[in-house]
Amino acid sequence: MTRMFNDPRAFKEEMIDGFVAAYGRYVRQAPGASGVISVDTPAPGRVAVVIGGGSGHYPAFYGLVGRGLASAAVIGDVFTSPPGEHVYRVARAAEGGAGVLFTFGNYSGDVLNFGMAESRLRSEGIDARTILVTDDVLSAPPAEAEKRRGIAGGFYVFKTAGASAARGDDLATVETLTRRANAQVRTVGVAFAGCTIPGQPEPLFTVDPGRMEVGLGIHGEPGVRTMERLPAREIAKLLVDAIIAEAPEGAGGRVAVLVNGLGSTKYEELFVLYRGVAALLRGAGLDIHEPIIGEFVTALDMAGCSLTLFWLDDELQALHDATAVSPAYTRIGEDAGSAAPPAPVPASRNEAASSGPTGSEVESGRPGPAGVAVRAAISAAMRALEAKEVELGRLDAAAGDGDHGAGMVRGFTAAVAAVDGFGGGARQSLRRAGAGFMDTAGGASGALVGGWLIAMGSALPIDDDEIDVFFWADALAAGSTIIRRLGQSEPGDKTMLDTLEPFVQSFAAAASGGANVAAAWSAALPAAEAGMRATTEMVSRRGRAARLGERSRGSQDPGATSIYHVLKAFGGAIRDNSDV
Ligand code: ADP
Ligand code: MG
Repeated sequence: MTRMFNDPRAFKEEMIDGFVAAYGRYVRQAPGASGVISVDTPAPGRVAVVIGGGSGHYPAFYGLVGRGLASAAVIGDVFTSPPGEHVYRVARAAEGGAGVLFTFGNYSGDVLNFGMAESRLRSEGIDARTILVTDDVLSAPPAEAEKRRGIAGGFYVFKTAGASAARGDDLATVETLTRRANAQVRTVGVAFAGCTIPGQPEPLFTVDPGRMEVGLGIHGEPGVRTMERLPAREIAKLLVDAIIAEAPEGAGGRVAVLVNGLGSTKYEELFVLYRGVAALLRGAGLDIHEPIIGEFVTALDMAGCSLTLFWLDDELQALHDATAVSPAYTRIGEDAGSAAPPAPVPASRNEAASSGPTGSEVESGRPGPAGVAVRAAISAAMRALEAKEVELGRLDAAAGDGDHGAGMVRGFTAAVAAVDGFGGGARQSLRRAGAGFMDTAGGASGALVGGWLIAMGSALPIDDDEIDVFFWADALAAGSTIIRRLGQSEPGDKTMLDTLEPFVQSFAAAASGGANVAAAWSAALPAAEAGMRATTEMVSRRGRAARLGERSRGSQDPGATSIYHVLKAFGGAIRDNSDV
């Protein structure tokens, strides 16, 4: 349980402030509390290695920023992917002319938000590449290894990237070596108790006394199976066997070993576990290189641990052994003191360039009642979600990470602020609201719902008086198209699309039957509600919950639920502004 905080909504900002106050000798803050940047970064001609993700995992990710390790880390709220805008800002401020390598765990929210930053950097002529960390053996079968999520093994992937960049390798080389490191890393974890997000009343999952979860996630996602709790030596065997069964093809006999505590498992217990692990690895004929025991990726105060093996070849070992100096990990290698670190570029250069507004709206049209209705709808959605925040968090905790309610409220609060006092039409109001949402909400839903609002706005004409029910039908269709495209999802995957798609179709049918906007909206809501309810029996195929397979069945999808409340609130506001 998290006991020390002030306002839970300011938890991340206060945590970054404290971190930088303590470790200013290694890092400085990136603009707008979006992350931290190593004091030797940007460096001319050196690839910027940018890592990141939600917070709650310390020392991942920001404790691993420093010389010979990551150049910068983007920091989201607890267990929430940072918004794409923040990723972009941090990368821009870290970039020293040789390109950017993003590397982070394979979670759909991070993939969406880092992906947006990557495309934006490329559109500005900056070479940016991405390597997803996929070390969690139990999160997908071997045939789908590229779908696995990233957990503690990310440490070795970041270390490889940071060491390669620090010795001056070009982006293609840093990318190749980092990819190779990821291919050689395997992790399996167990948990004895869940964790609680600051300010939330209950843990994300609980484990019955005497039992343990095997293959848990690091965001409070429950494991892939539960079993009776075993003695340390048998846990060691379970972990070692699961990893060795999946040793990389052609792997040699040398492994770096990481025993990672997830947050509230004591080091003493980890040493007891390691005693068993070491014997088993030696018994399997493996040569152990510099084991490390400690916390490298945590999940708040979760009780549990993971074992990571990193199969080394000579080149990966050289990178592993190279000097790294960061708040959470320091290793002095034989390279120490050789090449002087490159001189930092004045910090103001990139930061000034990156602090401008995103895509400022230069259109002008004839505003009218549709704009008024849209702004009322956004406010109504914010209020509806505030009322449902705890319930949405609970639904997300069932198979995800519990942040959905908080993210949606944060996003709609920003959306309301983005159109506050704005007198424009429906198109521009939706686009502004969507940009505000996307910059603030974080998570998979931050990119998806932000993109949804922007896409709907962009499908409307600029003058409000031209907007009729058919334009709304087109806008709704454009909204669900963008979610399919961004999320690579289809109806039936147990996502927000299962609410949206039936709504869009019923709305179009009602419009063709002669209904006006308010009537078509009301007529389509029952289809949305039925779609939402149908998600309960579905098995998740997209997003965080997809890792759970069958275990995701039985609870209603949080995104499908929140979108229903948004559509319902929009409908009320449209009815109240019935000139639309
Ligand atoms: P995160 O998974 O990053 O914590 P949220 O909890 O905010 O994101 O949102 C989860 C919801 O987002 C899911 O319930 C689902 O409806 C939706 N979602 C996640 N990934 C996708 C995707 N790839 N396509 C469509 N919807 C998705
Ligand atoms: Mg979530």
